[in-house]
Amino acid sequence: MQTISITPATDKKQKPADDQLVFGRQFTDHMFIMDYEEGRGWYDPRVVPYQTLEMDPAAMIFHYGQTVFEGLKAYRTAQDTIQLFRPDENIKRLNRSNERMCIPTVDEALALEAIQTLVDLDRDWVPRKEGTSLYIRPFVIATEPYLGVSASKTYTFMIILSPVGAYYEAGINPVKIAVENEYIRAVKGGTGEAKTAGNYAGSMIAQENVAKKGYAQVLWLDGHEKKYIEEVGSMNVFFKIAGKVVTPHLSGSILPGVTRKSVIQLLQDWGVDVEERPVLLSEILAAHKNGDLEEAFGSGTAAVISPIGELFYDEALYVINQHQTGPLSKRVYETLTGIQYGSVKDPHQWIVDVPKKR
Ligand SMILES: *Cc1c(COP(=O)(O)O)cnc(C)c1O
Repeated sequence: MQTISITPATDKKQKPADDQLVFGRQFTDHMFIMDYEEGRGWYDPRVVPYQTLEMDPAAMIFHYGQTVFEGLKAYRTAQDTIQLFRPDENIKRLNRSNERMCIPTVDEALALEAIQTLVDLDRDWVPRKEGTSLYIRPFVIATEPYLGVSASKTYTFMIILSPVGAYYEAGINPVKIAVENEYIRAVKGGTGEAKTAGNYAGSMIAQENVAKKGYAQVLWLDGHEKKYIEEVGSMNVFFKIAGKVVTPHLSGSILPGVTRKSVIQLLQDWGVDVEERPVLLSEILAAHKNGDLEEAFGSGTAAVISPIGELFYDEALYVINQHQTGPLSKRVYETLTGIQYGSVKDPHQWIVDVPKKR
């Protein structure tokens, strides 16, 4: 494996207070960078002071969006150690996204070492207040200066870090969701399975429209028939119906969430029936009508679990569990966050330590 060189920052930034963290606004003292050239492969992995980039305006990322990203977090435990949650899953998904977008894959062991080295160097940036964490954003961009539509011959892989506040300041809180009937996030054969920029650029209009009406997120339907439920905002989605849990199967247009995979595993551990299959919107509305829809929640790294208190569809409102967080949603949330912060046993070896090396 290649060795990662380290150039420490000479000027350290002022760290924001733990109760003043805004998601994705502040960045730590260092970043990771590695370059790629056709014929040479990935080279020069290095941790350097956080800095702006100089790029050719013809760089392909600016024109055709050939790029992928990941999102995971580092957590501070009560013993003051720093740990990661299933980083191997994020790195594998990064490479699956790379393959979809014709970007060369990265060495998985090197990518993990890069995350650990960077987080270790900036470990004082991992906040201490309950519910806070350090968000880790690995990403790859196409850098070749060329306006032809083809895969770039050069790339840059970077990792930046941003301290984040508690997602729920006043406890886990159900949100209102509007079913999106006009715009589509992804279709089978498209790029919905990959964490790539265009998926997010293309979904902002739907998000802006529902935000004006007071909804937190949209519920995405399939692009073919607009009958099946796919995701909620940038989260995967689960429904508890008459004691059983259902979640849309990974059909090709759904982002395979690490949180989703972990939720399914926990439910199976607890002996809860969980089905991954096509989920019709009509089935959810019918279950609501006959009183079987017990809970609904989104899952993702940012919120972990985001209960759905209300669905809006076709001018009708469907209130779920009286706008309350259901017991299963709460149990999943508490178990997952407990594992992430080290207060709950980790039966599946999901936790990876960030060793103190410096
Ligand atoms: C990142 C993401 C998720 C959640 O994935 P996690 O690995 O659980 O954070 C779900 N849907 C979309 C569209 C995403 O981008």
